[in-house]
Amino acid sequence: MINEDKMVRMIKINLGKEESFRNEILSQLEKHSSVGVTTVEFLRKHNVSIKFRTKKHSAAAWTLTGNIELNLAMNQNRKPSKDPYILSLVIHEARHLQQGLFKALSVYGELDAWQVGFKFYKDLIGSPLDPLSEEILHLPLNWSRTELIKAAKLMKKYSPLYRIDLLPLYPLPHEIVWWVTRKEPI
Ligand SMILES: [Zn+2]
Repeated sequence: MINEDKMVRMIKINLGKEESFRNEILSQLEKHSSVGVTTVEFLRKHNVSIKFRTKKHSAAAWTLTGNIELNLAMNQNRKPSKDPYILSLVIHEARHLQQGLFKALSVYGELDAWQVGFKFYKDLIGSPLDPLSEEILHLPLNWSRTELIKAAKLMKKYSPLYRIDLLPLYPLPHEIVWWVTRKEPI
């Protein structure tokens, strides 16, 4: 059994690691592209933490409390704070936090975040992505429901366990307006 002192010590060690990891990630992001710089500004301004979590089927996530969680267990053989993929995950999740709740929970918001993350990653590695990622990257980001359905299908193909089918195409308030009036968001 773990006594309370030991528990507090373990939590402190973990928090210290997360803090220094966050600093490393931010300094790496700042070195790369204007998206990296603006993302770091946002993360600092809103005091967004980057926490380590183990979640099934999920490499990273944003939380309702405004933080980012990374599943490093899924990426064990990487040097996390310098790895373009890990950095692109932070860019993706930060984008969701910037979008706000309703946009983040929509196919539109996902496509936006995937494209920002993919573009950042592509710029960093300096070579084209696989054909499916390139197709997602080049989809138009607009309110066409036909395009958003296509985007959801491609994202599902890329990540079969991802439940994008649970999300509305538009941010929820716009989705409701569409169902009532068939009007696209402006
Ligand atoms: Zn996402």
